[in-house]
This record gives sequence, C-alpha cells and structure tokens, in this order.
Amino acid sequence: MSVLSHRAKSLKPSPTLAINAKAKSMQAQGIQVVSFGAGEPDFDTPDNIKKAAKKAIDDGFTKYTPVGGIDELKDAIINKFKRDSHITYKRSEILVSCGGKHSFYNLAQAIFDQGDEVIIPAPYWVSYPPMVALAGGTPVIVETTEKNEFKITPEGLNKALTPKTKALIVNSPSNPTGSAYTKSELERIAEIAISKSFFVISDEIYEKIVYDGFQFTSIASLSDEMKKKTIIVHGVAKTYAMTGWRIGYTAGPEEVISAMNNIQSQSTSNPTSIAQKASVEALAGPQNKVEKMVSAFAERRNYIVDRLNKMPGVSCYKPAGAFYVFPNFSSYYGKSYQGKKIENSTHLADFFLDVARVAVVPGVEFGADPFERLSYATSMEDIEEGMNRIEDALKKLA
Ligand code: PLP
Repeated sequence: MSVLSHRAKSLKPSPTLAINAKAKSMQAQGIQVVSFGAGEPDFDTPDNIKKAAKKAIDDGFTKYTPVGGIDELKDAIINKFKRDSHITYKRSEILVSCGGKHSFYNLAQAIFDQGDEVIIPAPYWVSYPPMVALAGGTPVIVETTEKNEFKITPEGLNKALTPKTKALIVNSPSNPTGSAYTKSELERIAEIAISKSFFVISDEIYEKIVYDGFQFTSIASLSDEMKKKTIIVHGVAKTYAMTGWRIGYTAGPEEVISAMNNIQSQSTSNPTSIAQKASVEALAGPQNKVEKMVSAFAERRNYIVDRLNKMPGVSCYKPAGAFYVFPNFSSYYGKSYQGKKIENSTHLADFFLDVARVAVVPGVEFGADPFERLSYATSMEDIEEGMNRIEDALKKLA
C-alpha cells in the first residue's frame, strides 16, 4: 500500500513559491539575484494596522473567535462592499478565512462534485486548477490571447459551456497578466451566466491596484440576479501589504457560505484573532497608504513595460492592474546558449536565473508557455538592474 494518497501524489508545490525559495537560497549564498518572483507588495503593513494588532494582543483578544470571523470584521467587509461596489450583503453571506487562497479552497470544497466542470481562462492564477481538481471538479481551460488583453470572450465562453459547467472563474485584475474586465465586458459574461445558470467566482483580490483611472466593477454589482450567481473571493493581503497576516474573505449566497463555514469548522476553525482585528482597521481605517502604494506601482509599471517592449523580439501588454507584467518571449525559443537550447518558458526562466541572476516565473505555470511572469513589487533600482540583465542575457542567445 502506498504511503501517500492519490490526491497528495497528484499535487506539485506552488511554482511561484518554489521560484522565490530558489532565489532566496541563492541570495543567502551571497549571489546578487534580482527577483521578479514575488507575489506580494514590497511595502510594509501600514502602522495603523499594526497598532490595531498590538492593541488586540494587549487587550487579550487572543482566544478562539466564531469560525467564520468576528461580527466587527464581517461588518467592515459589508461596508467595504457597499462603499466600493454598491453591493449589499448580510453577515450570513460573508465568511472570513485564513487568506484568499483558503477562501477559494473552502469554496471549491463546498460547491464542486466529481465531474463538475469549471471554466478557467488561461493565463490563470496557478492555484485555481489544482484546487478545483482537489475538490473533484474538472478544470476546463479556455485560452485567451494577447490581442484580447487576455480576456475570455463571449464566443470563447459559449464554446466551452456544457451541461456540466458549474462555474466560471473571473480574476480581474488578473494574476499573472494584470488585465482587467470593463463593466460592459462583465455585462456580456453576466448575461451568459444567468441564461445558462452557472456560478461566476469573482476573484477581486487586486481590486484596488488599478492604473490610469481604470474603473473596477464587480460582476456581482450588475443586478440582483447576478449577485445570486456570484461568489466573490477577496482578501486584505495585496491591498494592505498584509500577505503574512492570512486574512481572506468570501461573499456569496447564504447556502454556499454556510457550507464553507462547516468545512472551515472541521479544518482550520477561525482565522487568527489578532489578524482579524488588524483587518478591521485595514478595511475601515484610512485608505491613503493604498493610494501611495498604487502610485509607486504605476511608475514601475510604466518603466518596466517600456523597457520590455524596447527589447528586440519581446512584446508586453500594458496591464490595467495588479503588479505583474506578462511579456511574450517566445521569439527566443529555439535559440541556444553554450550549446543548450531554450525551448520553452521553463528553460528561459532557468537561463535568466543561472546566467542573468534574475528570477521570473515561467508562463507555462499559468497555462501560457510563450510568456514569463515578472512581478514589479520590488524597488525601482532592482527593476532597472533586472531589465539591464535580461536585455544583456537575451543578446547571448543565438
Ligand atoms: N487570488 C489571486 C489571483 C492571487 O494572486 C492570490 C495570491 O497570490 C490569492 C488569490 C490569494 O492571496 P492570499 O491567500 O495571500 O490572501
């Protein structure tokens, strides 16, 4: 009898975390690696949020809380949705979990059965397909194109639908491409979701990180009917530089939230009490730090997109949000360095790490092999140095 379950054997570790670990271990050996691997803001958690956590400790707020989060945090989340998206939720429609990833995991466990099909537009966040598969669902990958700004079209969606379609995942703004859906694009998706009756899982974790005045829209805000068909996955990690605090949340139909609450009650129980108090301050307190962070990201985005597009044979879509670029390097596939042929995004990422000392994440991990993902959640100095190194390294390929 084998030690490990089929489930465990079918999983590989998250590739984004793996690249970061390799870059960090090279840095620990004294190698100056420029890392574009991080999926987290390089800013510190704002002081008012840290203070709220310290106060929670001092007040002895260190015990179990209700499984799905304290009412104070649920109310802050409800107010956030009202304020930002004009959607009205009740406490029974909100669940707080240990990070957005955990929110999605619980959701997948709560709604997918063996054979249920889940449409995932590619490029996708690396964790969607494994989490869908772990729950027994079948990921149905629908490719999108650079020309369409990596967005699923109504035609692409209609082609992928079957009677088994249970849900579509919309991640706007997107990790890894930074593309974001406009209101009218979401309206067309909503029409199909309502007429064919499937759920839209709307991952809005990068909602606040948008550029050039882009107006974020939540698909749940389009109509009451659509609200019933939408489950929003969200969290404080990216907006408030709180990746380590592990607070995510879900908003959706009571029946789904209640099932997720049961799953959470038999697995992790409540998210950390202290982090919950900090998240109340994050969502309800002053928002000016977010604006500052986004304007720093905007400057870096402009620079990195410009540099990449100036490199021969490289094309880079200018993202509307998040803090990633997803340049197409495929014109270099087939070229070699010291007798070693670069045939795909993994080979190229290895080449960048070994030769240029630059960490990027191969596009294949996001379901799009012509590309590499670079996070610009790093200093302008690092970005300049990293771009110089990539430019020089590409010249070595022949
Ligand atoms: N959704 C997307 C698209 C992400 O990129 C991430 C993190 O990388 C998450 C959800 C989950 O974030 P966390 O679990 O840190 O809250």
